[in-house]
Amino acid sequence: MPYADPEKRRQYQRDWQEKNRLKMRAYSRKSYYKRHEAELERSRKRNAESKQYIRDWHQANKARRMKRVIERYQSDDAVRAMRNQHMKASNAKVRNEVFDHYGRRCACCGESELAFLSIDHEAGGGNQHRKSIGIKAGVHFYRWLRKQGFPTGYRVLCHNCNMATGFYGVCPHQREQFATKAPTLSDFDLSMVIGL
Ligand SMILES: [Zn+2]
Ligand SMILES: [Zn+2]
Repeated sequence: MPYADPEKRRQYQRDWQEKNRLKMRAYSRKSYYKRHEAELERSRKRNAESKQYIRDWHQANKARRMKRVIERYQSDDAVRAMRNQHMKASNAKVRNEVFDHYGRRCACCGESELAFLSIDHEAGGGNQHRKSIGIKAGVHFYRWLRKQGFPTGYRVLCHNCNMATGFYGVCPHQREQFATKAPTLSDFDLSMVIGL
């Protein structure tokens, strides 16, 4: 013992403890773990098992809960009506956004009734394109356009002009335009070429 004086000895011990506090704590923790290893391992396993049990329970309960919600949706007219209303509003919104962007008039005949308007692929091949991206016509396609940030290459046509353009290659409105003015040789040639 370096100090015969008890006061000095106590001071020495206090200093030593202060200096080695962290080391001592780590040592005692380590030895505690070592002594209780098996017990701790059991408790870890128990915890993991009970966590898994809770997860499983939630999973099972979620399925049950979803089933109940779906059953309620299917059986409750009021809920179904509300959902339909929501879908209608949401469809109208995307439709409006699309025609706000591409215009609210048929590029061929000027029709402006929104219910008659549709989006036409300027380059043609709309059906094949939609098929290739796996998107159905109508509101599904409008949602896709919005998601793509309203890409170029599309224009507004009314359903009549759209169908006629797809079917004949050009809308009869364009043919009428040729017919109302005195035909020139070049008009005649063009109408022969497009087969109308
Ligand atoms: Zn039109
Ligand atoms: Zn037309």
